[in-house]
Amino acid sequence: KSGFITIIGRPNVGKSTFMNHVIGQKIAIMSDKPQTTRNKIQGVLTESDAQFIFIDTPGIHKPKHKLGDFMVKVAENTLNEVDVVMFMINAEEGFGKGDQFILERLQNVNNPVFLIINKIDKVHPNKLLPLINEYKDKYDFEEIIPISALEGNNVENLLTQIKQRL
Ligand code: GDP
Ligand code: MG
Repeated sequence: KSGFITIIGRPNVGKSTFMNHVIGQKIAIMSDKPQTTRNKIQGVLTESDAQFIFIDTPGIHKPKHKLGDFMVKVAENTLNEVDVVMFMINAEEGFGKGDQFILERLQNVNNPVFLIINKIDKVHPNKLLPLINEYKDKYDFEEIIPISALEGNNVENLLTQIKQRL
């Protein structure tokens, strides 16, 4: 089994951190500043029974300048070319305009979209259900999976769920 997975989400939700966690080396540039990752970077995770090819994107967000416009296009173009789309959000933040912008871009996507709630190490567990309720009616998500990309919590489960769609 082998397939492509793209990670989209507002700046700073942890896309590059997730990539680095699963690939195990610093292939994507990480920073507290948004938009450090300017192009799609691929990382390949090879397990005994599956190969995951991850595409880290600059994120889909309303462009403020020409380069931003290009970056959004790069991210958008990958959505219909992959097996699974990971839409990542920050567990500390509620639904926002940035998410709305991204979900609008997902309307014509037929591939399975996973809602990934990242940074669960930073929130109390009883905050999760209200957050899930806020998002779950806004799109027909294939799976909703809370993780910590930094600490690795529930990442194995996420990979197992992805594997079933490759
Ligand atoms: P990106 O813009 O979506 O690629 O976000 P980054 O991967 O660059 O992460 C932005 C910031 O969030 C960095 O300071 C990361 O260390 C931090 N971060 C990412 N994932 C987690 C997580 O699961 N838990 C915590 N506590 N911090 C995280
Ligand atoms: Mg990044």
